[in-house]
Amino acid sequence: PGTQLPFDPEKKTLVILGSGWAATSLLKGLDTTHYNTIVVSPKNFFLFTPLLPSVAVGTLNARSILQPTRYITRFKNRQVSVIEAEAKVVDPINKTVTFSDDSEIQGKVSSTTIPYDYLVYAVGAETQTFGIPGVKKHACFMKELHDAERMQRQFMDCVESAAFPGQSDQEIDRLLHMVVVGGGPTGVELSGELHDFLEDDLKSWYPELASRIRITLVEALPSVLPMFSKKLIDYTESTFKESKIDILTKTMVKEVKDKSVVLQMPDKSIAEVPCGMVVWAAGNTGRQVTRDLMAKLPEEQTNKRGITVDDHLMMKGSNGSIFAVGDCTASSYAPTAQVASQQGAYLARIFALVAKKDNLEAQLVKLEGTTEPEKQAEADRIRKQIDKIKLKPFHYSHQGSLAYIGSEKAVADLPIFGHEWASGGVATYLFWRSAYLSTLFSLRNRTLVASDWLRVKLFGRDVSRD
Ligand code: FAD
Ligand code: NAD
Repeated sequence: PGTQLPFDPEKKTLVILGSGWAATSLLKGLDTTHYNTIVVSPKNFFLFTPLLPSVAVGTLNARSILQPTRYITRFKNRQVSVIEAEAKVVDPINKTVTFSDDSEIQGKVSSTTIPYDYLVYAVGAETQTFGIPGVKKHACFMKELHDAERMQRQFMDCVESAAFPGQSDQEIDRLLHMVVVGGGPTGVELSGELHDFLEDDLKSWYPELASRIRITLVEALPSVLPMFSKKLIDYTESTFKESKIDILTKTMVKEVKDKSVVLQMPDKSIAEVPCGMVVWAAGNTGRQVTRDLMAKLPEEQTNKRGITVDDHLMMKGSNGSIFAVGDCTASSYAPTAQVASQQGAYLARIFALVAKKDNLEAQLVKLEGTTEPEKQAEADRIRKQIDKIKLKPFHYSHQGSLAYIGSEKAVADLPIFGHEWASGGVATYLFWRSAYLSTLFSLRNRTLVASDWLRVKLFGRDVSRD
């Protein structure tokens, strides 16, 4: 792996791919004493995704919800190598991973292959487009930091273009029509945030235009937020109605064009609706590197939704050398940060046991073939210790579902004493804020987010466009 790594040939090499929810939670809990640990991710930071829609409308500064990965690895017992690169090929047979630096500036070396003993595969997923024409070309996504920044720019561009002198009424209405595709939590939260921006700020700064801004949320299923209880779905739909956010359910986007979206309406008729911006939040799909990896283990990896793992999160067919966690896997759990972070924390515990087991097995190898009774007794003692090490299966503990719906209201389905407790409103919003503030990984991020909230309360959101 190169001379700059504190490589110890006595220790096993653990390569972690990704720096998202699963990988970061693993890194936090991992005792790095026992491993040569290498983190490879195209982003050298962790992104707190639940607050990404708030970045898209300028409630939060982008940097407030990022945490550089080195802030975590720096405090580890043994040095961890953090490499900013994208994994391109994983070879589960020869146990190697090839990655490259695809950033704008590269050194003389920008691609390499390294061996691993254990690989934690936590590369997440990308946004599903279903191959629908025009989505990649014309729509904004809401998955990565640059998506939120792009959306913010495009939104303000639409507003400024609508304010251009001599613009026709028809063109103003088009430019100020924002279409959000996908009524899952991402689409709902983003629509709520856009509405807040409109009500709290744009009405003051663009009084002549604000009343003409329209937000339409398009969802193919019969309701938004299908994972929430019926009561909260109704509450969200009625809040959106009051907020003048149009919800089109049983409506499917068939094409995204430069200046419009093509919709298949509930009666199967086709309508072309002019709009200034489309935000695409239609769910997840696996990355190409994941599909390529799965194709190398065709017998065991047959699920199109993602990697199949066993009860210990080991990738089936990888002979115990690859653990897969988070959104890149196909399991009975929803692809959420809650699941990914619990899986990461579980793996940290597993790796402590694996190190113990590997260590005992190494001692056993040294004693193998011995005829001395003392050493044989020692080997028996070690074997018993190894037998005692039992890896408990992963168990997910659901802490509830929370979503912000705008107008300082949130919805929450919380399991309390074995019962689902559904709540929606302003009190839930305060709970939402405090829950996310406490979930943020560091005091630094908590301070930044809290001061952003205060900044917006005092001065409003920034409407300048870079
Ligand atoms: P990610 O967090 O996506 O991390 C994947 C990592 O892999 C990233 O660091 C990425 O840069 C890296 N990577 C990508 N390709 C490669 C490669 N080739 N090689 C190496 N590294 C690679 N869930 C909740 O539970 N609650 C919420 O409130 C919530 N809100 C959300 C809001 C938004 C806007 C979005 C988009 C998602 C939200 N989620 C929420 C879902 C949650 O973010 C995901 O389930 C979670 O991020 C999954 O964690 P992960 O570690 O599997 O993937
Ligand atoms: P999702 O898969 O939950 O929802 C996407 C929605 O888009 C679906 O309801 C689907 O029917 C709809 N859709 C797909 N194609 C369409 C089309 N062509 N036209 C119209 N509608 C279409 O996706 P998401 O909201 O991005 O969430 C992804 C994951 O992240 C989920 O597991 C979710 O629970 C999690 N998440 C959670 C929170 C939260 O807890 N607050 C917030 C965001 C995301």
